[in-house]
Amino acid sequence: MSSRKIVVIGGGAAGAMAAGHAAAEGVEVILIEKMPRIGRKIAISGKGRCNLTNAGDIRDFIKYYPSNGKFLYSSLSQFTNTDVVNFFKRYDVETKVERGGRVFPTKDNSEVIVKALENFLKDNGVKVFLQTPASNVLVDDKKQVHGVQIKSGDIIQSDAVIVATGGASYPGTGSTGDGYDIARELGHHVVTPLPALVPLKTQEQWPKELQGLTLKNVEASLWINDKKQAREFGEMLFTHFGISGPIILTLSRYAAQALSKKQKVAIKINLKPALSFEQLNLRLQRDFQKYINKLFRNSLDDLLPKSIIPTIIKLSGINPDKVVNEFTKEERKKLVSLLQDLPLNIIGTLGLATAIVTSGGVDVKEVNPTTMESRLIKGLFWAGEVLDVDGVTGGYNLQAAFATGYKAGKAAAQYVLAK
Ligand SMILES: Cc1cc2nc3c(=O)[nH]c(=O)nc-3n(C[C@H](O)[C@H](O)[C@H](O)COP(=O)(O)OP(=O)(O)OC[C@H]3O[C@@H](n4cnc5c(N)ncnc54)[C@H](O)[C@@H]3O)c2cc1C
Repeated sequence: MSSRKIVVIGGGAAGAMAAGHAAAEGVEVILIEKMPRIGRKIAISGKGRCNLTNAGDIRDFIKYYPSNGKFLYSSLSQFTNTDVVNFFKRYDVETKVERGGRVFPTKDNSEVIVKALENFLKDNGVKVFLQTPASNVLVDDKKQVHGVQIKSGDIIQSDAVIVATGGASYPGTGSTGDGYDIARELGHHVVTPLPALVPLKTQEQWPKELQGLTLKNVEASLWINDKKQAREFGEMLFTHFGISGPIILTLSRYAAQALSKKQKVAIKINLKPALSFEQLNLRLQRDFQKYINKLFRNSLDDLLPKSIIPTIIKLSGINPDKVVNEFTKEERKKLVSLLQDLPLNIIGTLGLATAIVTSGGVDVKEVNPTTMESRLIKGLFWAGEVLDVDGVTGGYNLQAAFATGYKAGKAAAQYVLAK
């Protein structure tokens, strides 16, 4: 073992990968983690099952990171989704692929992933200091790292430091945004951390009446200051405060950014995206023909889930007791518009407390993507969610944390060995 030393701050997905891989190069590595155990966020990931990566083509991954995906090009090509699966296989974790390419441990238990990382650290002789929160990275006047100060005031000297403190979401897991303070103090720019993959609050109260209802195969479009900015197709959910579910979570990062700039944010839901306006109009005509003597409130059963019908009828402003053969062309068209453009005003997100990831973080322009080393300070490396990179759901965030952790670990070891 060399006398060269690396300190890794943060024992999450990125920090554990970095520490083990650096130690495997023959360098002394200390991992400091402020919680009583490493990997608290991994433990709750994927609803306790841990969607560790995605089985899709790695060459397509970049597009699943809405900001700065290109920054990951090098790390994702060196530590791919297959490498992640093979890495855990070496620690007896078998995996399976589910809907949308999501990869989970066959045991449906995230604990096996945390355990594997603990064993990886042990096998490579990483010294793990738990309940040890770091407060600063120490830098000399040549802008070179020489250690880490922990909250107790003690100093751990080192030749390189890898900061892998995660984002600021789900702070109960230990990720409280400490890395952003460390970064600012060292002169790095931090792009404002905001919640991403987060449920949205609506001004309208009617979603509350539908709480628990999941809609499949719908389209949600995001409107900022009355301009359409993005759309997603798939599944969504009504909740007691507004809307959630995969397509809403994906749109939420843009909603959160617009709300932070005090812009007007709306989501419009197309309940029948497979049909054009005309096709849906004809479909309604056919249904109304079939139910010619029925009341409006009893005429939509073939078209919509039962629980949403009273809401649609109320929002249409059309008399629910009107017999359908008395509908005017205008009324039918009004109904078609409502079904394809169901509007919701977004007044907020549920915040960092419940966001799956944090958008924003250490500005990637100041980090070398092939080594994860700071462009401002020698011997300082960044990995994981603390960086200004965030992915959509599907295993992309853990994949990015593992890959950047791997890169940072290897590069930091090379750096100290070359010193
Ligand atoms: C509920 C939930 C479910 C998720 N599910 C998935 C999923 O299924 N698939 C997926 O790809 N992604 C998922 N994610 C996102 C994913 O878990 C994160 O993007 C990923 O864990 C980030 O890894 P990281 O190592 O950068 O940070 P983290 O995993 O957050 O680890 C950071 C570590 O640093 C420690 N730390 C922080 N500050 C200090 C300090 N000052 N000193 C010492 N230690 C410190 C923290 O305690 C923590 O252990 C989920 C997130 C949440 C919240």
